Amino acid sequence: MCVMCNPAFADAFRNYAFPSRRQILRSAAAATASAFICETATSAAAQAEEASLQDLANRFDQPSLPRVTIFRAREIITLDPDKPSTTGVAVLGDRILAVGSVDELQSVAGGQPYVIDDTFADKVITPGLIAQHDHPLLTGLTMVSEIIAIEDWVLPSGVVPAANSPSEYRARLAAANAKLANPVELLVTWGYHPVFHGPLTRSDLDQISSTRPIIVWHRSAHEFIVNSKALRAYGIDAAFVADLPAAAQKQCDLAEGHFWEGGMFGVIPKLLPAIATPDRLRRGLEFVVRYYHANGVTLGCEPGGLFSKQLQDAQNAVLSRADSPFRFYFIPDGKSINAAFPDTTISETEKVLGWGEGMTAMMPGAIKLFADGAIYSLAMRVREPYSGGGNGEWIMEPEFFARAFKVYWDAGYQIHVHVNGDAGLDTVLDNVETNMRRHPRYDHRTVAIHLAVSQKDQVERMRRLGVIISANPYYVRALADAYSKDGLGPERADNMVRLGDIERAGISYSLHSDMPMAPGQPLFLMHCAVNRTTVSGRVAAPDQRATRLGALKGVTLSAAHSLRLENDMGSIVTGKLANFSILEDNPLTVDAAKIKDIPVWGTVFEGKVRPVV
Ligand SMILES: [Zn+2]
Ligand SMILES: [Zn+2]
Repeated sequence: MCVMCNPAFADAFRNYAFPSRRQILRSAAAATASAFICETATSAAAQAEEASLQDLANRFDQPSLPRVTIFRAREIITLDPDKPSTTGVAVLGDRILAVGSVDELQSVAGGQPYVIDDTFADKVITPGLIAQHDHPLLTGLTMVSEIIAIEDWVLPSGVVPAANSPSEYRARLAAANAKLANPVELLVTWGYHPVFHGPLTRSDLDQISSTRPIIVWHRSAHEFIVNSKALRAYGIDAAFVADLPAAAQKQCDLAEGHFWEGGMFGVIPKLLPAIATPDRLRRGLEFVVRYYHANGVTLGCEPGGLFSKQLQDAQNAVLSRADSPFRFYFIPDGKSINAAFPDTTISETEKVLGWGEGMTAMMPGAIKLFADGAIYSLAMRVREPYSGGGNGEWIMEPEFFARAFKVYWDAGYQIHVHVNGDAGLDTVLDNVETNMRRHPRYDHRTVAIHLAVSQKDQVERMRRLGVIISANPYYVRALADAYSKDGLGPERADNMVRLGDIERAGISYSLHSDMPMAPGQPLFLMHCAVNRTTVSGRVAAPDQRATRLGALKGVTLSAAHSLRLENDMGSIVTGKLANFSILEDNPLTVDAAKIKDIPVWGTVFEGKVRPVV
C-alpha cells in the first residue's frame, strides 16, 4: 500500500504548513553537528603505487589522460550476462571504465595512469542497491518516534525488537514514558497494531501519563490513539469533532481517544504541528539518509510524492545536500494533479519538474496513479469477496482512473499504478489494453505496483501488454499467516506477490519496501522474495519464490529498468555510473536463510568510496 494514497491523507499533509527550509536548517545548526559520511583515504600502499604508475604514464608521454582507480574485490557480481562474475572494476570519475580481473585491467591500461585500491579485496561488490519505492517524509517521522512495532526494526543505532504481545507492548510503552525526564514532553510512538497488541484506549494512556501528551500512531499510519492531555493540548474536543464532516465524525471516538481513517484525517491538522516540528522533520530525514546508506542504497525513489512545493522544499533541505550518499527521485502524483487541473494536466505536471535540486529530482515523463485500496486494511479490490464480506474500495474511481490514465498515456508518460487486488489489476490491465488498441506505444513500461493479490490468468495478460511489476515481497512474510485465517483465505493469502509465475513468464519485476510499510532494506526484500517465509516460519506457496538472481536484479538492474535509468545504473558494465554496494558476502551463494543478515560495508557512489560509519 502507499501510505499517502488516501486523498484525505494527502490533503491533510498538503494543508499543513510544513516547516520551511530556513527552519529546518536553523534546527540543523542548533543540533550537534554529526558528520556521518566520510570518504576513505586511499591506502598508503595504493598511494605509493600511484606515484610509480604516474611515472610510468609520464614515460609513455600520455600525462593528459586522467587517472583511473582499479578496485579489487573478492568477487564482483556484474549482472552482465557476458561476464557475470569478476574481481576488478576500473573507475574513472563517476563512471565505470572497464570490468575484468585486475590483471586484465592492468594489461589494457596502456599508458593511462591508474591506482589499485585494495579496500574491497575481501568484499563482494554488487551493482548499487536501489530503493525503488519509499516514502522519506513518513519514514522520517515514524522512525524518530518511539518504535514499538509488530516486527524488529534494524536501525543504524541498533535493533528495535518487536513487541509480540499486549503485555509486552504495554511494558514497552511504560518504559518509553519513564525514559522522558521532562514530565510534559510529548511522547509519540509508532507501530501499534491491535491484532498483535490488544486493545488500547485513551484511559489506558492516561494511566501511563496524565501530564504529557501521548500520541500512538498505528502501524498502518492511518489511525491515532491519544491520551486526555493530548486532546486538551491540541484542541481536540467535542466541538471540534462536531465540526468535522459527518463521515469523519463516524470514525472518531473521543471517549476512547481513537481516530481512524476519515477521523484520523480530521484530527491530523491538529496533531501534525506536534509530530512534524522542524527538529523532528530534520532528524527524520537525516535518519533516512543514514538508514539507506547503511543498507547499501545508492538511489531512492518515491512514486507519488505529495503534491506540495512546500513539502518538497522541506525534504530538499536534507535530501538535496551535495554530500548525500544517494540521489533521490520523486514521481509526481497524477491523481492530485489531474483532479486539480483536469484540462491542463500535462502542463501542470511539467511545472512540478523544477521542484528538485541538488541530489533530489523529479522524474521527468513519469507519473503515479492509484487504483484500489490498501492491503493492511484489506481495502484492495478483489474478484471474490473477503471472508468477512465486501470486495474492497477504489482510491480513484474507475471513470476518474480511466480519464487520468488516458491523458498521461497520450502524452507518452510512463505510468506507475498503485494496485493491490486482482479486481484492481483487471481494471488497470483493461486500461492498458484499451489505450494500446487505441494508441499503440512501444515500451510504455507501465508499472503495476505492489501486486498483493493477482491470478494466474493475469500474468500472461501482463506479459502480452508489456506491463512490468514493482512488488512488495514483505506482504507474504508479514500478512500471509494472518490473511490465510481471516480476510483472503489460504489460497489467495499464500499466493500473494506471485513472483514465481511472474519470473517464469519473463516479466521484469523490481522489489520495494514502501517504507515505513516494510523495512527499507534491499537485501531484506531480496530475502523475503527468495524465501517466502512467514512470521510463523512456514514457506507460503513455495513455487512463487523468486530466484536469487531475479531477486537481486529486483533491487538493482530491474529496479533501474522500472525507473528507466538502466542506461546509467543497475549493473556493472562499461559506461554506467560507478554505483556499487559493498557486502561482506555473496547474496547469490550464501545460505538463503542468511541473505538478510549479510553485513553492508558501505557503497561506492558515483565513483566515491562511502563506508558506513
Ligand atoms: Zn501504494
Ligand atoms: Zn507507497
